[in-house]
Formats: sequence, C-alpha cells, structure tokens
Amino acid sequence: MSAAPIPRPKHGIVKVPMSYFTRMLSEFEIACDRACFGLVLQLTIGLAARGRTKARTWAPIKRQQFADTARVDADWAGERVNALVAAGIILERYEKGNGWEYAIAPHIAKETRGETIHGRCSECKVIGHFQTRFIPMPLEYFTVLTPGLSNAALLVTAVVARWSHEGAWSAEHGLVPTWQELYVSDFEKLTPLLARQISTGIAEAEEAGVIEVQRSKGKPTMYRTLPENWGTLGKKKLRLVIQPPKKAEPEPKNPRPPKPPEESAKPEKNSQSSPILIGHGYCVVCSHITAIEPVSAEELAKNEAEQAPAPVERPPRPGPTRETRPKSKFWEDMERRRKEALRNVGFNV
Ligand SMILES: [Zn+2]
Repeated sequence: MSAAPIPRPKHGIVKVPMSYFTRMLSEFEIACDRACFGLVLQLTIGLAARGRTKARTWAPIKRQQFADTARVDADWAGERVNALVAAGIILERYEKGNGWEYAIAPHIAKETRGETIHGRCSECKVIGHFQTRFIPMPLEYFTVLTPGLSNAALLVTAVVARWSHEGAWSAEHGLVPTWQELYVSDFEKLTPLLARQISTGIAEAEEAGVIEVQRSKGKPTMYRTLPENWGTLGKKKLRLVIQPPKKAEPEPKNPRPPKPPEESAKPEKNSQSSPILIGHGYCVVCSHITAIEPVSAEELAKNEAEQAPAPVERPPRPGPTRETRPKSKFWEDMERRRKEALRNVGFNV
C-alpha cells in the first residue's frame, strides 16, 4: 500500500515484549490474565509514550485495580493474579507502606529493552545473535478490548497488531499502523486457534471496527488495526464477568484451564542454563519469531568462527543470504534506515 500515513490520535502505548506474541499469546487463554498482565506492563515498563525513559520495575497495584481493568470480580482477579505469579510471569512482593507490588518477570522484561540475545533458534537451530524488540500496543487493548471481545477476536487482533504496529510508533506521530499481508498460517503460528476460529475472530474484530481488512481478488489479504476505534468499543459492550469464562469452543490443545504452577511453567525455566540467555527474537533464517535456546560460549565462538549466517545482528552481506529475507517490509526498512544511519556517520556500507 502506498497511501501516505494518516496522522492519527496519539495513544497511550504499552511496550509489549515479543514474547507476549509468542509464548504468552497462546498461553493466556483467560482474558482476565491478559488484562492483569497488561496492567502490570502499563504501570511498570510500558510507559514509552509518556516520555518515561527510566523504567519503574515495581508498581503497587491493588486487587481491585486488577478487577476493574479486567472487569471481573475481585476474587477472580485475585485468583488469576496468583496464577500469573505462580507461573513466573509476574512477580509479587509486599512493601511496607505500599502494600502489594508487582513487576514483570525479568526474563520477559528484558525483552522490552532491545537487548541482543546470543543463542540458538528453537525452530531452525541456527546459532547467532538475536535482537529482541517490543511491539507498541495501545492501552485500550488491555483495558477495553480484552474484556469486550471474544477470545478469538482478541487473539486475531493481537496478531494483526504484532505485524501492523511493529516499528509503527514514533514520538512525533504516535502509532500509525501499517497494512500487512497476512495468511492464516500467520495467525496459526501465534495463537492456539483453529482455522475456523481464526475466520470467526477476524469477522468479529472487523465488524467491531477494531481491525480493517482489505480483500481484493487475486491479491493477498491485507490487514491493519484501527486503534482509534478501540476506546469506544467498551461503551457498548461493557459487562461484568462473574464466572470464569468457560468457553464452549472446542479446545484442541488444552481442554482444561491452565493449572498455575507446574503446567504453565515452561521447561526452559528449569533448565540448568542461565536464564539470561533465554528470550525471544526474530530469526532471519527461518522467519520465525522464535524462542532462543541458550548455547555455551564455546559453541557461540565456534559458530562465529565458522561464519555461519548471523541472524539480525549485522546487516546481511549482499549475496546468497538475500533469499532468506523475511517477507515483512519492516525489516527491509529497518535495514535501509540502519545503512543510512551508518553512512551518515561515515561508514561505507
Ligand atoms: Zn530460525
């Protein structure tokens, strides 16, 4: 799409770590969990749009705030917060004077700081350097859409946002979502939804004005989000959930709600390796947002000596690796901007 970006109203933005769209998107089956997680993000590391440069790690949050954000009753919110704590996704502590405080677990929070992770792609097993990044997400995703949309519509919207929002936020213009070519497989990769649930979710999100879909014969379907509409959705759909949402949808993968501690905790957390090496990044070799497995320093050094293709970290050299470029235009733009920046400071690239 070549249409000039339309200036849109600025939105309160939460920096959502990449892992939200990989591991968490499929593991948060309960809407309340997403809302509670979003609130902690919002109050701790997520205030990019408000000029905060220094992250606040811990924020005091009352049970009632969780309940209000998720629009559920306080007992259920408390139960889900406990489950998130037990799963190691958020941390909880008691501070004199402040009461209960919450933080995003460091192994997730570090992904919002754009650190480079050294490791092995869990999909294609290539070893290298992976950049981590965050996706800007309007607050309304957590405060309005999460309680207002069905699970399928919500997950579908998150997938569209994952692509449509990446690199689409600037202090000057706010969030200007880009059109993205997406396929059913893109939705399947990031969610536990079946193809049929994906199309139902897309229809609902489209009808609610949360996303925009462009279909033309013989061309790939294009998607973008419409965050300017997100704030008004809640006004007509406000509701209070008393019961845990027992979904009638067939559950292909997990027929039961996630059991807090052992079930949700990923084996990677128990591994011997340093958790510092584990994260999520984009692999340019297999084009997956991938969980990165730890590798030893020797393995990494050996690999570098062998000149194996190094994902993301360095601008790829011209030549055969070109074919493995991701389809996303964002990466090409990033690359172009990066080279420009390098040239501006006198590098010959
Ligand atoms: Zn890979």
